[in-house]
Amino acid sequence: MSDTPSPEFASSNDATPSNDATPSNDPGRFDQIVNLTKRRGFVYPSAEIYGGFRSTWDYGPVGVLLLRNVKDAWWRAMVQQRDDVVGLDASILTPPAVWEASGHLTNFTDPLVDCKKCGQRWRLDKLEDPDKCPGCKATGSFTEPRNFNLMFSTHAGPVADEGALAYLRPETAQGMFTNFKNIINTTRVRPPFGVAQVGKSFRNEITPGNFVFRTREFEQMEMEYFVPPEDAEKYYEYWKAERERWYLELGMPRESLRLREHEADELSHYSSATADVEYLFPWGWDELEGIANRGDFDLKAHTERSGERLDWFDQAEGVRYVPHVIEPAAGATRTAFAFLLAAYDVEEVRGEERVVLRLHPRLAPYKVAVLPLSKKSPLQETARALAAELRDEWSCEYDENQAIGRRYRRQDELGTPYCVTVDFETSEDGAVTIRDRDSMEQVRIPLEGVADWLRPRLK
Ligand code: ATP
Repeated sequence: MSDTPSPEFASSNDATPSNDATPSNDPGRFDQIVNLTKRRGFVYPSAEIYGGFRSTWDYGPVGVLLLRNVKDAWWRAMVQQRDDVVGLDASILTPPAVWEASGHLTNFTDPLVDCKKCGQRWRLDKLEDPDKCPGCKATGSFTEPRNFNLMFSTHAGPVADEGALAYLRPETAQGMFTNFKNIINTTRVRPPFGVAQVGKSFRNEITPGNFVFRTREFEQMEMEYFVPPEDAEKYYEYWKAERERWYLELGMPRESLRLREHEADELSHYSSATADVEYLFPWGWDELEGIANRGDFDLKAHTERSGERLDWFDQAEGVRYVPHVIEPAAGATRTAFAFLLAAYDVEEVRGEERVVLRLHPRLAPYKVAVLPLSKKSPLQETARALAAELRDEWSCEYDENQAIGRRYRRQDELGTPYCVTVDFETSEDGAVTIRDRDSMEQVRIPLEGVADWLRPRLK
């Protein structure tokens, strides 16, 4: 065995990027990426040993890290780095009163049509041609549209009677409104301020699909920003720009991301303006996040239904008002998938195909991998000790199986930004080789300097 990492990866000069122009919207790649997510432990079909279960997915050992990193990056930008936003983790099980007040029990519906020819069901507002069945291609075969409510109901407690009826939340937002009074009474916030939450939501979608894009159980990252009414327009503009910036900073290509303002007929009844952050998916532009100017609809609706006055008294001005709300509402699972699509790249290296996930280091499941060139002593001990040290700060892979070239390829497919190779010279010169995922360039640095070298690069 050679005492240096495989020469195949010794320089990046021979790497020819196959296609810089956004590969993420190429339908052929979609299957390759879905395949990679299964093969490398990102996402598995739920209950697969029983044949799977209706568009539900489980995040595997690698996927759970990616998803967590997306949520952490959101929390960092939306809560940790700000002094005007606080966090919340409200319950998923909710009494009907909340959804009566919010309007979900009457309005949270999608128009459902059945095809009389093939029996398949469709969501009318998402069909390209509202008269043509995408399943059997028949025209004029649909039933009259029916409003189908997307709420999942259940019963809390041992008796399944009317009084025990509860709902799984279809969005996290209502928890922020129902806790408005608790939050202003127990913290130092004052408008403009936000309440942020990350968590699971459930919608009985008529047509889940496109892998994890639309599922019945998913995770959201939502923030309600409460502002004086006269400032609502200003903060609506502010949050649109902030949210777009977040995606770009984490590596979304500019040409695959856009902000689309809703047309008047798309707006919810309470919203005076809404814009979607959209990503160019393989099937076209689709939503990652909605940013809505919700006015005072929510606080007023809950005040009316609950009898609790949900407003703000500005002592300095001596005025009482119901704050208006700007809501950036993103999907964590959907966004993690979009980052994966955007990061996926295939290039040719010396006649061989290299698949690499060019994920932003903050999103990469593993930040670093430690790879001893041999399982023999003292390489293994040195490498294990280094991995243990690095794990104190980052999720770190340790891999001593197979040829080094194959191990690099595996880390490329996991999106690991750096691989540290402990080789036969390490015990003599006290140094290791660090390989960069994107350029494949290698540098040799002292063993004890690895963490210091990585720290600024993994920020
Ligand atoms: P759509 O038009 O795609 O049904 P929506 O406009 O109803 O979505 P919102 O209520 O604004 O979605 O929810 C905010 C975010 O939550 C969406 O932008 C999306 O990222 C995510 N989301 C909503 N529904 C789902 C779902 N069924 N599966 C995965 N993510 C979802």
